[in-house]
Amino acid sequence: MATHKIAVIAGDGIGQEVMPEGLRVLEAAADKFGIDLQIDHFDFSSWQYFERHGQMLPDNWKDQIGGHDAIYFGAVGWPEKIPDHVSLWGSLLLFRREFDQYVNLRPARLMPGITCPVVRRDGSARAPGEIDMVIVRENTEGEYSSIGGRMFAGTEREIVMQETVMSRVGVDRVLKFAFDLAQSRPKKHLTSATKSNGIAITMPYWDERVAEMAKAYPDVTVDKFHIDILTAHFVQRPDFFDVVVGSNLFGDILSDLGPACTGTIAIAPSANLNPGRTHPSLFEPVHGSAPDIAGQAKANPIGQIWSGALMLDFLGHRAAHDAVLQAIEQVLAPGSGAPRTPDLGGCAKTQDLGRAITQALQSL
Ligand code: ATP
Ligand code: MG
Repeated sequence: MATHKIAVIAGDGIGQEVMPEGLRVLEAAADKFGIDLQIDHFDFSSWQYFERHGQMLPDNWKDQIGGHDAIYFGAVGWPEKIPDHVSLWGSLLLFRREFDQYVNLRPARLMPGITCPVVRRDGSARAPGEIDMVIVRENTEGEYSSIGGRMFAGTEREIVMQETVMSRVGVDRVLKFAFDLAQSRPKKHLTSATKSNGIAITMPYWDERVAEMAKAYPDVTVDKFHIDILTAHFVQRPDFFDVVVGSNLFGDILSDLGPACTGTIAIAPSANLNPGRTHPSLFEPVHGSAPDIAGQAKANPIGQIWSGALMLDFLGHRAAHDAVLQAIEQVLAPGSGAPRTPDLGGCAKTQDLGRAITQALQSL
């Protein structure tokens, strides 16, 4: 079997603490399923590297990590030392752009032992697995173009504009990914986020491309909602959704709202994918470097571990992904007796939770 080359960048803050746990579980999964991994560590994309070199990455960073199959990433950002926009644009957003990671993927699934902040309409609690959706965000164009500007700045006539850019290639490739994903899941249901009643040029185009793409997927149920009512549905009936696809801005909003509906930010995973595999894809927890708890071994490593499971899935090891999720669920299950970090109401350390999940995986 081919070796998968993984570039590991732990980065800043709790990235340094959750990454060893992510790797512990990843290596256990590799052992269990006979997966050959080559793990290479890189110290760039951290404030320490920036202090030594005056930049977040070495000049030849693309040569160093561009040949890897995936990047396993912790967190970046240490505002005390570097403004967030400098650290972010100097590393993570550069990877996204240069490696053409045009899909941002965020599963939002209600796990056992996590209190769901959105109850049912009758006030009762939602059961684990009742919310199980994946949000697919277009990651390279759309509303986040830098085309636009200010005219008559500082005067009464001041005008500010910013263009939304949608290309057929850009829209179709993210829709294809979302439709393929929907087709591979039991519910085979795809929801598109739109606003074609108010945004009268780009959004009707988005809808047209969705309708066109749907013709090739007759077994996928497709619906669309305007973004305003869609956010309401996320809160009122999150169990309705399966795969939800949105433009860069709408996807951005939904990909925070979805995981928020399932409880804690500390366990949510994400992936920035280059589905054509011409460049490495990147897997990282949703949370950031969390300076407020860094260095105290308090961080919950599940977001990092789950992101590692997404990486295994992307590399073709679905069974290993499923096993890691099962191990996480076993450990989180009420009454499991497993350690819990403070965000889950316990007082265990990052390592304790990482070890418990590793053991659960090994004994599946
Ligand atoms: P970003 O870097 O994405 O801008 P941020 O730095 O503003 O995000 P986070 O680092 O995600 O925010 O942290 C937000 C809050 O959630 C903090 O109070 C932090 O302590 C808490 N938190 C984040 N990740 C974890 C984790 N893995 N375990 C426990 N608590 C966490
Ligand atoms: Mg941050």
